Amino acid sequence: MATPTVVLLPVWGTGHLMSMLEAGKRLLRRRGRALSLTVLVMRPPTEQLASEVAGHISREEASGLDICFIQLPAVAPPVDHVGIEEFVSRFVLLHAPHVRAAISGLACPVAALVIDFFCTTLLDVSRELAVPAYVYFTSNAAMLALFLHLPVLHEEVTVEFEEMEGMVDVPGLPPVPPSSLPLPLMDKKNPNYTWFVYHGRRFMETDGIIVNTAAELEQRVIAAIADGRCTHGVRAPTIYPIGPVISFNPPTNQPHECVRWLGTQPPASVVLLCFGSGGFFTAPQAHEIARGLEHSGHRFLWVLRGPPVPGGRKPTDANLEELLPDGFLERTKDKGLVWPTIAPQKEILAHSAVGGFVTHGGWNSVLESLWFGVPMAPWPLYAEQHLNAFVLVAGMGVAVAMKVDRKRKNFVEAAELERVVKTLMGGGEEGWKAREKAMEMKAACRMAVEEGGSSYCALQRLSEELYKGAAVEVKK
Ligand code: UDP
Repeated sequence: MATPTVVLLPVWGTGHLMSMLEAGKRLLRRRGRALSLTVLVMRPPTEQLASEVAGHISREEASGLDICFIQLPAVAPPVDHVGIEEFVSRFVLLHAPHVRAAISGLACPVAALVIDFFCTTLLDVSRELAVPAYVYFTSNAAMLALFLHLPVLHEEVTVEFEEMEGMVDVPGLPPVPPSSLPLPLMDKKNPNYTWFVYHGRRFMETDGIIVNTAAELEQRVIAAIADGRCTHGVRAPTIYPIGPVISFNPPTNQPHECVRWLGTQPPASVVLLCFGSGGFFTAPQAHEIARGLEHSGHRFLWVLRGPPVPGGRKPTDANLEELLPDGFLERTKDKGLVWPTIAPQKEILAHSAVGGFVTHGGWNSVLESLWFGVPMAPWPLYAEQHLNAFVLVAGMGVAVAMKVDRKRKNFVEAAELERVVKTLMGGGEEGWKAREKAMEMKAACRMAVEEGGSSYCALQRLSEELYKGAAVEVKK
């Protein structure tokens, strides 16, 4: 029999695409069962995103691994959408005929279709072709539990979450304050909310859900999902916690300028501020951050991005003269570095000079921080980051809480940032506890992916299941 292939269908955002590709590569490296990877590539909706994706793919193609990339025909993106999650879900759906044709045209047995969590509309294609379907969930088990529980919450909570009394009950999590729910759930009239409930429902039709977490990080919530507590007693699909899945960049000859600067700083003395692929600040907020950092007296490496161009979504490289207060760079030049474009976050977190991380709390960033044992202060900005912040502080205890004003576009005052940086870096009890916990999680993460570890074994079970799926013939 020809080597069976696992078909991956990622969405284009770096945090989704690279995580899914890395998970796929880990499957390829499994001993015993030979599988190949086929990646169906949707043409992203903007030129900038298309060139980012093309760059990632050409690097992967050069790696010599058994991965075949198939470019799907371009489709016209929706133009009448209200929100981003709605846009992505509808854009993905338009690819259904192309996904069907691409899978039907494969010459080898298809072990499974693995889709990003925004792609559940394509479960109909997998059913039509009788191909087992899995979701690759790039966020944590807490968010997955919320997704799975959403159809229940939708029936039970008939007002907006912000208007409800008390806390939101998500089995496996401490009671969740409504203000910690993900942004797309905060307005039930918005189609984003409806799409989240839709995806949560459809997860139940899959053969399994692969989650980028480790059992040790989220034991309770993983148990709650497995026991059917999130889904009204109905058994959820098998969960495969295979993380942390982190895709490391190949080593470079020359260290990046940020890394070189860190080399001149004392151990664990620098607080890193970095806000993902989508985080940016306008001048009033950047001024507050600058004042907070300066007054904290701590060393800092601040990755600062500016607002998108009109009509765009992506942050731009920061114009420091426009964004920062007069004289700030001069006054702090011995203590800090402001970096105005994308920085190599993983290499920075790996450096011994970094002692804390003010992060937007994207799940990839969180896992990278835990991998290197760096305690955090989450400053959620978009997507599911408010829930992640809650999980990091109330659930895992690896972070110091920060007051973020959700009603003012997640504004943080200078005095609050100063307090948080002092707590995180200054050696008080709260900061120490977070540091200790982060070190515990570092050890747990590394053990999980080693041979015999929980994530290693989950990946093994998954590869066995996928291999069994290859026996099923694709209907053409
Ligand atoms: N990242 C980076 N440099 C930056 C900003 C982000 O290397 O200046 C990387 C970061 O290490 C992580 C990813 O981009 O791997 C961001 O993913 P995450 O899930 O944290 O956030 P998102 O961008 O999806 O909001």
